[in-house]
Amino acid sequence: MSILTKTKIITKKEELQALTTNLKKEHKVIGFVPTMGYLHEGHRALLKEARANNEIVILSIFVNPLQFGPTEDLDSYPRDFDRDLLVACEEQVDYLFYPTVEEMYPDTPSVTVKVHTRTNVLCGSSRPGHFDGVATVLTKLFHLVQPNHAYFGQKDAQQVAVVHGLIEDFHFPIKLIAVNTVREEDGLAKSSRNVRLSQEERKEAGILYQSLAAAREELIKGNNQLDDLIAHLKDKVEKESSGIVDYLEILTYPALEKINQPSGKVIVAIAVQFKKARLIDNIIFDLSM
Ligand code: AMP
Repeated sequence: MSILTKTKIITKKEELQALTTNLKKEHKVIGFVPTMGYLHEGHRALLKEARANNEIVILSIFVNPLQFGPTEDLDSYPRDFDRDLLVACEEQVDYLFYPTVEEMYPDTPSVTVKVHTRTNVLCGSSRPGHFDGVATVLTKLFHLVQPNHAYFGQKDAQQVAVVHGLIEDFHFPIKLIAVNTVREEDGLAKSSRNVRLSQEERKEAGILYQSLAAAREELIKGNNQLDDLIAHLKDKVEKESSGIVDYLEILTYPALEKINQPSGKVIVAIAVQFKKARLIDNIIFDLSM
């Protein structure tokens, strides 16, 4: 019989900061996993990594309005707190921070964080202000949680790159740990938004990963006609699914710069808009190996 940890729920920021200040006085090593909830195997991978390497594991669940654009899915973002709490207990999370929007943003913010680099590509260009919202909420959460280690999924590779910049520029004494993308059997990256796909769309959605893998194969073979390759793959995704490709880009990683001659570490990233869900995925590989 497995013994479930009793995860303690904290909703108030003062309570969380007082707790972590005491934990720091005791020199406890804190691992932090920030999420928007509706937890799945991808989140579990982050929690397991945190559990294995920290004395205290803190999970946050907060659907952050600041990172959603006016026409995006803030209101319809999937939520299920009871199930998330069960996952937190199963993954032996010590504390679950679950604030309301009013708790995090009692007033219109007087200060927000602006991300200046790596935002003119991928989700940065198609979701203006998104990474400013992410960086702002993480700055607040990092001050409350005071973690030694913060865990992020490589599925959101641009977010990982942006958070690296945030930690470095703002001198947070935090080590960022990037965790590999967890996928379904057909390659579809696990995502809270997958539940918003229709049955038909779910069958089609494996095409995202297939197109990334096809791009990788072509680049490894030495294909350097990137514009043609991208156009061909976009066309294939749109022919073989009902989704509309928001972007399919091949860039350097982690700088996320345009490539003339493919070499070194490369990211191929895709975003596809289905009827009620916008899905993203990427793969990163090294052409010099
Ligand atoms: P979210 O709740 O979507 O904001 O995600 C919270 C964290 O989980 C982020 O760092 C994501 O990159 C990570 N994550 C989401 N999906 C996956 C996945 N399929 N594999 C690994 N990490 C993931």
